[in-house]
Amino acid sequence: MRVIRLRKDDTDDAKLRIPAEIIRKGGLVAFPTETVYGLGADALNERAVRRIFEVKGRPDDNPLIVHISDFEEIYRIAKPNRVALKLIDEFFPGPLTVVMEKREVVPDATTGGLKTVAVRMPSHKVALRLIELSGTPISAPSANRSGRPSPTRAEHVIEDFGDEIECVVDAGKTEIGLESTVVDTTVYPIEILRPGAVTREMLEELFDVRVVKTSEVARSPGMKYRHYSPSADVVVIVGRDARWEIARLAEKFRKMGRNPGIAAMKPDLSIDIPSYDLGSNLDQYAERLFDAFRSLDRSCDVIIVEGVEEKGIGAAIMNRLSKAGRIYRV
Ligand code: AMP
Ligand code: MG
Repeated sequence: MRVIRLRKDDTDDAKLRIPAEIIRKGGLVAFPTETVYGLGADALNERAVRRIFEVKGRPDDNPLIVHISDFEEIYRIAKPNRVALKLIDEFFPGPLTVVMEKREVVPDATTGGLKTVAVRMPSHKVALRLIELSGTPISAPSANRSGRPSPTRAEHVIEDFGDEIECVVDAGKTEIGLESTVVDTTVYPIEILRPGAVTREMLEELFDVRVVKTSEVARSPGMKYRHYSPSADVVVIVGRDARWEIARLAEKFRKMGRNPGIAAMKPDLSIDIPSYDLGSNLDQYAERLFDAFRSLDRSCDVIIVEGVEEKGIGAAIMNRLSKAGRIYRV
């Protein structure tokens, strides 16, 4: 695998022409966006798209998000209605994916056979320039093996794929750290299929919104699969006494002969249990969560995580935690 290194705001065309050429030829390139690293292929090339599914081990009814770099491309692949256009106007480029009716050019492989297509314009400069230089929309799910935590660093991608993909563009850690918000605009009230950094509260300023429960799987096929999981068991503790309960549980697991680890905001680092600091606010928490999973997974068989309140980006955090493990309220 080729590793192309860039700074986050550096769109060195001489370097980015290499991955762009790989995309044009139907190859796979992992690249950073502001949410997580994506595993990209030419969205209009059915064979290239099929390789994404193969390499990830992704069920082929789980549709991919199509990434674009300019507004005109939307009309080439989708038929936006007025609601979609308003959301695009407000939130593109950024961490919002809009589901719209699709056009013929988009192969069934990309949309998992659906009549709709999910479209996003990332705000990451490197991602935008890579898409531009490739001259085609890029299908890109998160660049992890199916079921593993999404990658927020190039090292995570290398860990999961090694030489199975042609190239990774390494521009350091991703800023948001959780996958984009996915909104279905083909129904009204619009539906949040996956919560993310564009929050329910932000969308409610514009439209009536319904949040689709994890149990309602039909609308967003990807939601039915176990996700974001380290190999270790994940136990999430949320509530006023969470910190006390986390410490108690860690001791208890240890006595049972297990190897517990803790992921919490400003954890007590003086105890001799591997602990990962999720920071002091929800944005830091989101940015660090998947790295915490991957790094604790190396030495622990059970990870005890401090849950958060389901407000703002907290809703997206709790959504990912609910898919990684079990939540207990104390
Ligand atoms: P990932 O690419 O791994 O970040 O996952 C993409 C998410 O978007 C999955 O949860 C998909 O189910 C969802 N998605 C993609 N395309 C569509 C679509 N046309 N309709 C509904 N959900 C979609
Ligand atoms: Mg994913």
